[in-house]
Amino acid sequence: MSNLHDPFDNVLNQLQEIKTLAELKEGVLAVLSAPKRFIEVNLPVRMDDGQVKVFKGYRSQFNDARGPFKGGVRFHPNVDESEVKALSAWMTWKTAVVGVPLGGSKGGIIVDTKQLSIGELERLSRAYIRALWEVVGPELDVPAPDVYTTGQIMAWMLDEYEVLARRHRPGMITGKPVAVGGSKGRVQATAVGGLQVLMAAAKHLNLPEKASVAIQGFGNVGGTLAGLAYAAGFKVVALADSKSTIYNSEGLDVVAVENYKKQNGTLFGFPGSKNINDILTLEVDILVPAALENSIIVDNVRDVKARLIVEMANGPITPEADKILAEKNIIVVPDILANAGGVAVSYLEQVQNAANYYWSEIEVLQKLEVMMAEALTAVWELSNDKKITLRQAALLLAVRRVAEAMKSRGWV
Ligand code: NAD
Repeated sequence: MSNLHDPFDNVLNQLQEIKTLAELKEGVLAVLSAPKRFIEVNLPVRMDDGQVKVFKGYRSQFNDARGPFKGGVRFHPNVDESEVKALSAWMTWKTAVVGVPLGGSKGGIIVDTKQLSIGELERLSRAYIRALWEVVGPELDVPAPDVYTTGQIMAWMLDEYEVLARRHRPGMITGKPVAVGGSKGRVQATAVGGLQVLMAAAKHLNLPEKASVAIQGFGNVGGTLAGLAYAAGFKVVALADSKSTIYNSEGLDVVAVENYKKQNGTLFGFPGSKNINDILTLEVDILVPAALENSIIVDNVRDVKARLIVEMANGPITPEADKILAEKNIIVVPDILANAGGVAVSYLEQVQNAANYYWSEIEVLQKLEVMMAEALTAVWELSNDKKITLRQAALLLAVRRVAEAMKSRGWV
């Protein structure tokens, strides 16, 4: 993301911070300070008007000591090298925290999908896989959806891959529709895992039963979590998408908001709500950043009033702001734990693909609950033991696991 907060610098800062605690040797730190492989591709796409346009894409394969690289593909105008690298590192920590036998990677294309026709979007998605098909696959590197990529895009990518590989390999990508080997429960998995973590943390902090919640981002993760939190009895007072923020101190009817957004394409003007400028500094019990990175930064952190922050987006808080939140005694459940439900079910999707045997939604969500509970307990205990923040504990746990795998392989 082109702004003052270089996301990969954030990754390196976070590593420096736990270097001593994790007793990281210089060699381990050196391996974890850069992706194993970084690929840049230029993708020619025939546009509907007959002209060819070239889009830039990336794939960052960060670490595969614990298993094949795993990470989503983002389609966004602000995608850049540093963002993709950072997201690939965070995927490495996330798969380790939630204990799935996978590494970490991430991909992206610099594009505003709102400017593309459906045909152009399909040709761009296929072009990405044509450029990268030899370095992705179920045993190599497994893509998935991220910001502005969908199950439909995964299905086109799978089809392109299988045409080139001349065989069915549904486990090469996750988050695909159930019709082509996707897992039941995958669409809501990130939010389901997030709610589980949010509820556990709220209980731990003795927050009121109808605690107030503000959610930034109303897409797959934020929108789904809003619906689940509302159904679970939380008072969802504010919601934001990229264009507007709506607020009602008595709580919003999230089901009605979902319908309103479907009909009008925006949250703006939702009946009974006030349009406000800033969701991050509201007087609420729980704040959920679920949009993009670098939302809570030094400039606004002092005005954050929530008691609990659950990071559903990747990297929404800069390291400097994170320190200030800790000083203010605001508990932060870090991204690599809070949003790990998505990759946990992606792993279950691959397991089902490999076995060619498919579970019911209930079976999938039960397995997810067990995986999230184990990760949550491990991070919470480590944080108590070492008297460190949940973020430091999650990173420490992850880095130890990755370092152990690298050591076993004789890499370090
Ligand atoms: P999405 O494209 O479905 O939704 C993104 C949402 O963010 C949209 O509602 C958009 O309007 C909103 N948004 C964008 N800029 C905003 C801004 N400045 N202010 C407020 N809202 C803004 O994407 P998603 O899959 O929901 O991903 C959201 C975040 O969650 C990302 O950081 C992503 O990396 C992370 N994540 C996603 C998954 C997953 O399974 N989809 C898993 C783990 C983490």
